[in-house]
Formats: sequence, C-alpha cells, structure tokens
Amino acid sequence: MLLYDTVISWDFSPYIFMILEIMHKIDTKKTIFALMSISKILEKDILSREDIITLLSSRDKDRTLLFKKSAEIKEQIIGKKVWFRGLIEFSNVCSKDCLYCGIRKGNKNLKRYNLSDEEILTAAKFAYDNRYGSIALQSGELESPIIADRIENLIFKIKDLSKGELGITLSVGEQTREIYQKWYDAGAHRYLLRIEATNESLYRKIHPENKKHDFRRRMECLKSLQDIGYQTGTGVMIGLPFQTMDDLASDLIFMKEFNIDMCGMGPYIEHADTPLIQYAADLLPLNERFDLTLKMIALLRIMMKDINIVAATALQAIDPIGREKAIMIGANIIMPNITPGRYRDSYKLYDNKPCTDDSAEDCQSCLEARVSLVDTEVIYGEWGDSQHYDKRRKSI
Ligand code: SAH
Ligand code: SF4
Repeated sequence: MLLYDTVISWDFSPYIFMILEIMHKIDTKKTIFALMSISKILEKDILSREDIITLLSSRDKDRTLLFKKSAEIKEQIIGKKVWFRGLIEFSNVCSKDCLYCGIRKGNKNLKRYNLSDEEILTAAKFAYDNRYGSIALQSGELESPIIADRIENLIFKIKDLSKGELGITLSVGEQTREIYQKWYDAGAHRYLLRIEATNESLYRKIHPENKKHDFRRRMECLKSLQDIGYQTGTGVMIGLPFQTMDDLASDLIFMKEFNIDMCGMGPYIEHADTPLIQYAADLLPLNERFDLTLKMIALLRIMMKDINIVAATALQAIDPIGREKAIMIGANIIMPNITPGRYRDSYKLYDNKPCTDDSAEDCQSCLEARVSLVDTEVIYGEWGDSQHYDKRRKSI
C-alpha cells in the first residue's frame, strides 16, 4: 500500500522528457529490429508457417515492405499486365445450402433465373468482339445429365462462334470426374473451385453437416480437375467467422503444396439472408478483412510467383478501388461482369455486391480506365494462361 501511494504521488514532471526520450529510443529500436526481421523473412526462398503469420500480422512499414516485395515479383514475372475473363453468371439456381452464400437453396427472398443459351452466347460474342481472351461461366451448383449436356453444348458453340479463340473457364461446382472430363474434351481448359477453407473443422462450421457439403469430396474434385489437365484454380474466403491467422497460413501452404495454377480468393462479406449472419457482430471490421485479403494475395504472389491470381470483385464491395489495389500488389486477372444487366441483382452472393446495375459495356470502359490508373495494361486477344501451368505440365 505504501509503495503504491509513493508511486502514484511521485511527481514525474522533472523527468518527463527523459522518460519520453528513452521510450522513443526503445520504440525506434523495436521498429528497426522489426523491419530487419521482416526484410530477412522476405529474403527467404521458403516461408515457414510462423513467417506467414508474421507477415499476415504486419502493419505500417512492415506491411509496406511486404507489398513492395510482392509488387516487384509481379512486375518481374508477369509484367504490369492484367487479362480479362468475361464473367457470365448464367444461373443462380443452386442445390446447395452453403451457410454464407446469398444464392443458397434455402434463401427464398430471391428470384431464381437461368439464362437461355442464346443469352449466354450473346454475352460470349460480346467478349469475343471486344477481344477479351477468355470468358468464365459461373453458376450455382446443379448435378444432372441434362445440365452436363447443356454445358458441353455451350462450350462447343462458344468455341465455334469465336473460331476457337475464346478461352473458357468453368466454375460450376462439384461434379463427377466423367463430367469434368467431358467438358475438358469439349474445350474448357480452366476450372475454378474454391476450397473455401482448408481447415476441415472450419469448413464444417460454414456448411451444413450432410453428404452434399462434404469437404473430402470437394478435395477429390480438385484432384480430378488437376489430373484431367485443367488449369486448376482454388481459393478461400478471408475473414470468415471462427477463422484464425493459423487457418489462413494453412490455406496458403495448401495452395503451394497442391500446386495450384490459379487462385481466386476474396473477403467474406456477410449476406443478411444467410445463417452465418448470426455471427456478424463477431467478425473483423470490413477494412481489416480487406487488408488481410491484400496480404494473402501478396503472400501468395511471393510463394507462387508464376500463377494467375484474380483481383476478386468482393474487394470492390469494400473499397471502391479494391481491385486496383490487388493488381498493384500481385493480382493479374480481372473478371468484368458481362452477365445481362437485368439478372445481376439476383446473383448476390453477398450484400453490397458492386456493379449490379451496370451493363457489360459500362464494366469494360470503367475497368480499362481503372487499370490504367495503376499503370497496368489490359492485354486483349490473349488467353493469359497461367505460366505455372505450362511449367507444371512440362515437368510431368
Ligand atoms: N457454385 C459454385 C460457384 C459459384 S459461388 C461454387 O460454389 O463453387 C462462387 C464463390 O462465391 C464461392 O466459391 C464462394 O467462395 C464465394 N462466395 C459465396 N458467398 C460469399 C460471401 N458471402 N462472401 C464472399 N464470397 C462468397
Ligand atoms: Fe451454391 Fe456455390 Fe453458393 Fe454454395 S457457394 S450455395 S454451391 S452458389
């Protein structure tokens, strides 16, 4: 008690400047030490789990060093370039009930749509006429022979209308190996299937517990896609409820070990009509989810220098120049939405999805201007394949 009284009644004023100076020196020393250690980590050829977590937690100057490094690698390996994939969200009908997704089967506050073949082909023709190298066909997940035949037929027709020139990426969820093969043989050559979360227990928390939402099956699907010969893309959501830094480090390590060719990852953004909304109050603030996503992209660019990385649209839902920031620090693919405007409002995977009232033409001119602002060139008329894929295939 006596000691406590002495300490609080002691007059610090004569010493205050001395104390502040000592504190400042300690702080400066700490900063120099941290900078040194971040620089050392960034020089390593292989990052450990601890290194990844340190970099994901970096702030201020450390964070700047991370972004500088990833931007340098992008410029050196890929160049200051981006390629477009015209995104056609051709149906929001889905048989699954992922707990985070706005178009899940259980959401009844939604008008379901399914574009006609003609509408899809018109959108593909728009991409071709505007010299986009590729398109991406995305939808909710449905497994049926009719759907499989329909998609095969569309691939033939898209190849036909573009004289074989348009590259085709598919993102239509889990299917059998035979169906993946059928679409590959028809001419699709890239597939995007996000693993969503590589920690199985986290995966189970964000999906219903049933056979339709089976982590192992999703992994097997990714393996089949890779075995068949697709440029294989995966990714995760960042800032999910229950997710830890260690989970995010595991996600990056998984992508490296699985040897993916492409990655599309973005911030998790809550949707009011989904079960996960109950955890909204526990989530990281949106700006922190955004920042973590940029760090994940930067780290992946450092760890896998020659893969294709998408600047996800969800980034723009948080920051109006979110995609451009992602391009500056490592992403090299943008997916301009070329879905006919009147359907876009019904493909809301998350709240505040941007550009839902734009047309395909609006998206193109807007994106081109945005990309040039960050001193990057849009490459037209090329597929923009993953360099990693070419090297991987040659080494098989
Ligand atoms: N049905 C297919 C493709 C369409 S969904 C599939 O699931 O693979 C495309 C992606 O949207 C999903 O992989 C998921 O990562 C993302 N997504 C869904 N809901 C989201 C949300 N609330 N916030 C951010 N991304 C979301
Ligand atoms: Fe369907 Fe894909 Fe949404 Fe899951 S994430 S509910 S599979 S659209």
